[in-house]
Amino acid sequence: MKPLEIYVHIPFCVKKCNYCDFLSAPAGEQEQRKYVESLCSQIRSYGDAAKAYRVISIFIGGGTPSVLEGEQIAEIFQALRDAFYIEESAEITIEMNPGTVTKDKLKVYRQAGVNRLSIGLQSADNRELQILGRIHTFEDFLETYQMARTAGFGNINVDLMSAIPGQTNESFIRTLQTVAKLEPEHISAYSLIIEEGTPFCEVYGEKNCTEGVKGPKNLKEKRAEGLEYPKLPDEDTERQMYYDAKRILKEHGYHRYEISNYAKEGYECLHNLGYWNRTEYLGFGDGAASFLNHTRWMSGEEPEVLSKKDEMEEYMFLGLRKTKGVSKTKFKQEFGEEMEHTYKKVLADMESKQLLEQKGDYVRLTEKGIDISNYVMSEFLL
Ligand code: SF4
Repeated sequence: MKPLEIYVHIPFCVKKCNYCDFLSAPAGEQEQRKYVESLCSQIRSYGDAAKAYRVISIFIGGGTPSVLEGEQIAEIFQALRDAFYIEESAEITIEMNPGTVTKDKLKVYRQAGVNRLSIGLQSADNRELQILGRIHTFEDFLETYQMARTAGFGNINVDLMSAIPGQTNESFIRTLQTVAKLEPEHISAYSLIIEEGTPFCEVYGEKNCTEGVKGPKNLKEKRAEGLEYPKLPDEDTERQMYYDAKRILKEHGYHRYEISNYAKEGYECLHNLGYWNRTEYLGFGDGAASFLNHTRWMSGEEPEVLSKKDEMEEYMFLGLRKTKGVSKTKFKQEFGEEMEHTYKKVLADMESKQLLEQKGDYVRLTEKGIDISNYVMSEFLL
């Protein structure tokens, strides 16, 4: 049986955050109920095709899966267990937001086999949370976090964000230290990206469009409406925040295993690692992507069969996200040719610029390479 990862998308949120372009929106009870019903039948319809696989990880993401009733989450897990063989040791994660979780829901999650929680905090500063349009305060997060520990969850991720409008190095450091002291097993720290179609994009324009540079389009009008939209941190500050994250989290016993992900030893997220290692996955629910038999598709869209060239590119730019890098032996096993042959020129060029380095069987980004990882990865397009 081949390893398989499963992603289930729950597209509901209490309210849309100002920066969010994920497929998510508020919805009434009836809409939620219908969605869960159709999700369960979609999962069950997988039938015989599922028999060739053993599920090694499940990720219930969103949106905010914790807005669903506990029983609805239990129904989804029942459907998954009916249709798939789920390994005893599978990592099973559910995403949740403070203010949407109760003791009863946590109890149901445990009974359903959930063994990892991912809590969206973003910042320990209530003003920053308000600017982001989050529905909760830091105190709400603390309550949720303690409730999760009391309920017996021993593997928790906390999502943090840097480059929030108005955020300073000092406030980001305070957030990192405050959260690290709580000792979650895993911390994700992504930098805010201003995405098209979001309220932030209307105000700030595209990424890195700081006030006084290109000029946020509607900032004056927005401020006149009485809303607070402070400046975005500039690029140097943003980079410094990235270094601070690594340094402070290291002091607290976390190691960075991917550009934006940190874990205590043994708590790296298997689901994410599987994605960067190109393990096959099936996605259920609106907008969820799947990758099986060299084919990728989004629910409701035409499947795309990947060529060997596509797969080699993906192997490199997904794999290089891991601080461990990409294995040359695995490349040869998968594609029947040497990495040094396929990427001879790029490897030599990147190494001479000290953006890549080799360690044993692995090729990985250097610190300098991580700083401009998008550029380095784009060089691997054939
Ligand atoms: S809670 Fe998450 S998914 Fe929902 S609107 Fe906010 S950022 Fe988007």
